[in-house]
Amino acid sequence: MIRSWVNSVRQTHKLTIFAAPNAAALAPILGTAVARFNALSQSLALNVTYEMSSSPPDPDNLSGANVQFAVANGAYTFKGFGAEGGGFLKADAREGVTEFVTAGDGAKLAKAFIFVPAHIRVHDFMKICMTVHEMIHATGLDNDEHSSYADSDVFCEGLTPSGAGVQCGVFANRIMPPIWMTNRTAEKIKSAWP
Ligand SMILES: [Zn+2]
Repeated sequence: MIRSWVNSVRQTHKLTIFAAPNAAALAPILGTAVARFNALSQSLALNVTYEMSSSPPDPDNLSGANVQFAVANGAYTFKGFGAEGGGFLKADAREGVTEFVTAGDGAKLAKAFIFVPAHIRVHDFMKICMTVHEMIHATGLDNDEHSSYADSDVFCEGLTPSGAGVQCGVFANRIMPPIWMTNRTAEKIKSAWP
């Protein structure tokens, strides 16, 4: 499913992202992931970029950052637009998770909460790929929109470390870097950011 952000956010063609205090150690990873996403956005005309924010998302309204980046060590919770949610992500999981909070008009996206595992033991490039992957989710794409193994990219369900690189999906010749995005994934993002 592809979902739209609330109009006031969508019209800015920008998502602000805040690194939660518990993700301070991953700040360089997030900074690189933002730069990589924005380079893909430019080359593929995605119509949305990310910008770092020092304001945490307001739990009650649209103020503060649109997206929060945090680590999870088992159970996690999040609050946005007066709603609370939670889930569970093992500290050594091989993937992150992105949760959404929606607002009134047609349940449009009002906040997104990215969690990555707190104690993942992989190289930094894998962490960067995982972060870019979750940032793609946060543009409005849920798990049904993952890229296929036949046309894999950083938004593939299965990202696995391979030497100093990261393999997308099941075919051993699909190794990043560079981090790439297929036109298929790009078109999905564009449809949420007209
Ligand atoms: Zn995913």
